Amino acid sequence: MIKTQQLQFAYGAGQPLVFPDVAVPQGALVLLSGLSGSGKSTWLALLAALVKPQQGALVVAGQDLRALSGRSADAWRAHNIGFLPQKLYLSAALTVQHNLELAFWAAGLPVDGPRVRQALLQLGVAELAQRLPSQLSGGQAQRVALARAVLMRPGLILADEPTASLDDAAAQGAVQMLVHAAKEHKATLVIATHDARIAQAVTTCTAVAPILLYLSPARSTSALGTAAGRLQA
Ligand code: ADP
Ligand code: MG
Repeated sequence: MIKTQQLQFAYGAGQPLVFPDVAVPQGALVLLSGLSGSGKSTWLALLAALVKPQQGALVVAGQDLRALSGRSADAWRAHNIGFLPQKLYLSAALTVQHNLELAFWAAGLPVDGPRVRQALLQLGVAELAQRLPSQLSGGQAQRVALARAVLMRPGLILADEPTASLDDAAAQGAVQMLVHAAKEHKATLVIATHDARIAQAVTTCTAVAPILLYLSPARSTSALGTAAGRLQA
């Protein structure tokens, strides 16, 4: 469940980004679109409690995010959010297996080896466990990052432009992988994108109509629709 009301965020003294009110039920699929600079990455950062809104209400998975800060925000995020940032942040010095184990450290939990292996198996990258990120293809690195993102069985998966650097077939595969992972974990999935291929890919891999959330570059108007195919990019 994601609920926002009159949410605003400004970087420094800049003009505030104004976000539309949403009430997203648990397990829904949200396509967040809008031109570059319209605030997609910022909205994801707000939902992940990486930044705090200056104004408005923001409740994610029953937690009022304005009440969280510092270490409590970090702990909450580690347990509740699977975050796939635009630039994947696998640690270059660590193997794939150790990169996944980091998720347990971040959540303050003992490493669960079998669960790490299972996550890698589910995404078809178990044989890569001992490799370093530099020894992975782009698609493999994305699978590893997704395996790590879903490791703690988060209720909310946030993916920022996951298909930006992929060809058509790989883009379709990446969307399928995200949708299946979310379904398996009964997680809400938010995909930020200005890639029109994503709407198409989503309709081919799930019968569930996505919630379409469009961020206007003008920042004052916005539209929320529910019918597939109304994605305005
Ligand atoms: P999108 O992901 O839709 O491209 P962003 O959320 O990254 O949009 O950015 C929204 C606006 O905020 C843009 O005008 C961008 O320049 C600005 N912005 C983003 N990050 C920062 C930052 N760290 N400091 C100052 N301004 C930023
Ligand atoms: Mg962005």
